[in-house]
Amino acid sequence: MTHQLNAHRERKLRDLLQTRCPELVELERLLVNFNELLSFRVLTQVEYQAHQFPIYSLTLGNPAPEQPTLLLTAGVHGIERIGVQVVLAQLKVWLERLKWERSLQNCLQQMSITLIPIVNPVGLFLNRRSNGKGVDLMRNAPIESREASFLVSGQKWTPKLPWYRGDVSHMEPENQVLREEIERLTARAPMVISVDCHSGFGVHDRLWFPYAYRRRPMQDIAPMVALKLLWESSYPNHQYIFEPQSNHYLTHGDLWDYFYKQFGRKQCRFLPLTLELGSWAWVRKRPLQLLRFDGLFNPLVPHRQQRAMRRHLPLMDFFRHAVHSYQQWLPGPAELANLKQMANSLWYR
Ligand SMILES: [Zn+2]
Repeated sequence: MTHQLNAHRERKLRDLLQTRCPELVELERLLVNFNELLSFRVLTQVEYQAHQFPIYSLTLGNPAPEQPTLLLTAGVHGIERIGVQVVLAQLKVWLERLKWERSLQNCLQQMSITLIPIVNPVGLFLNRRSNGKGVDLMRNAPIESREASFLVSGQKWTPKLPWYRGDVSHMEPENQVLREEIERLTARAPMVISVDCHSGFGVHDRLWFPYAYRRRPMQDIAPMVALKLLWESSYPNHQYIFEPQSNHYLTHGDLWDYFYKQFGRKQCRFLPLTLELGSWAWVRKRPLQLLRFDGLFNPLVPHRQQRAMRRHLPLMDFFRHAVHSYQQWLPGPAELANLKQMANSLWYR
């Protein structure tokens, strides 16, 4: 009887996951179908209402810790599903091409790609920004802004309002495992570029880099400008705005500010980026989306969703090449002053 009950409960959960978390089901299908081309670990299981939700970390390529690494993450905000879908679409492209494409196979012998496509599986399941405890993971890091003052910057009063920071002295389990993963990746790699996929700000697609907590340049501003110039010369007429997040608004507790301060600025060149998909363009084309909260963050029309899933493939593949060939473009000491000056005139005047 207990056995039957358990089987029934499991079937029910599987059906529920298929309707409310199809991205997680798709991810698990890829783990099975491509098990020869990737390795994976369950970083932790997040508990919600007696159910366990896994956070997966996948690795393609050479996992030796001395290799340069590209890290792709998404789903920190559960409602921003399109970011998860973009990362899964890219993962599928790489896996299919790895079966036959010599240049990709050779490239991945000299670097690794780590993907954490769903950082906040309970948020995804509930179709909301925060995790199961109402904490906004992107405001939960122990880093305070002296200048930020708006609600959107993060608040410590109540999980009933958005942007709740939770207990920043003990980050949420989702962030703890992300921290451990980044500590591991940056420990011996000479170069790590990370791209965290979000949606919901403005009509343009943006690439944001630290800081979010202050309007001053990061220590690695010169390599960041070099990366921006490399992207713009390699892909002219692209649609991304490359800039510091502080250009728009300041926040407390930004994860990438925190990870950069913890693990960047040492022997590993760690360049964290956030890809903010400009979801208001979808709303502008289809104002009825405003009637649904998730319509603010996701394209609800299939052809727009498909376009989003293919539109960012060149960018993601560019980052793979930038990591692989990092020695070719990282600025030397003679170029630093010029690049810093360029950053100052672009963003920090
Ligand atoms: Zn977000």
